[in-house]
Amino acid sequence: MTAGFQCAGCGEWNETTVDSSAGMQQNYIEDCQVCCKPNLLRVTWDMSAGEYTIYAELE
Ligand SMILES: [Zn+2]
Repeated sequence: MTAGFQCAGCGEWNETTVDSSAGMQQNYIEDCQVCCKPNLLRVTWDMSAGEYTIYAELE
């Protein structure tokens, strides 16, 4: 399942693939495709929207 997050370093939007078998709440690190800074992603399943919402912060 794909979801978007806004890089905490440069503010650009990135697309990431969330492994839905890993649960409704996940934390992992992914590098921004634009500035290559590692973003700590806090992924939560939004039941009402039916999609993952991601909050990103710098590691
Ligand atoms: Zn960035």
